[in-house]
Amino acid sequence: MHCPFCGEADTKVIDSRLVAEGDQVRRRRECLSCRERFTTFESAELVMPRVVKQDGTRQPFDEDKLRSGIMKALEKRPVSIEEIEAALNRIRFRLRATGEREIKSMQLGEEVMTELRQLDKVAYVRFASVYRSFQDINEFKEEIERLSVNGGDGPDPVDVAKALADTDKGQS
Ligand SMILES: [Zn+2]
Repeated sequence: MHCPFCGEADTKVIDSRLVAEGDQVRRRRECLSCRERFTTFESAELVMPRVVKQDGTRQPFDEDKLRSGIMKALEKRPVSIEEIEAALNRIRFRLRATGEREIKSMQLGEEVMTELRQLDKVAYVRFASVYRSFQDINEFKEEIERLSVNGGDGPDPVDVAKALADTDKGQS
């Protein structure tokens, strides 16, 4: 690494240690030319893919927006913050694991639905009904029936009805 003081091409590492609970490496360096010392920090760059919206525009991955969307779907539902954060971690991990620099917003929505389906079925239906903007009511009924079959303990019809009523209010 170049010396930031005199621009010398080579500097010597005189000390190296892990910091930030092992997430960073701190290095003390000394310039062999001017003898100045300085410190560098090295950490893994965890770049999230950018999100391509349906109209083709690109947006940076916005974790706060994602979190608030999930929280909204889980409003008044018995799911802890820890569970929500764990779900967010899994989504981040899977998106990074794709190795793609860009992902479709649709894919992000599918990831959220995957997590909500595990966390809380009412929240899942709430989110899915808005997100997928179901083409017709039959498709929506099929989705609920499918959930009931797969989960064994399908969503309480009363809860679903309430969730739908809330959703309708939200859209008008
Ligand atoms: Zn120097």
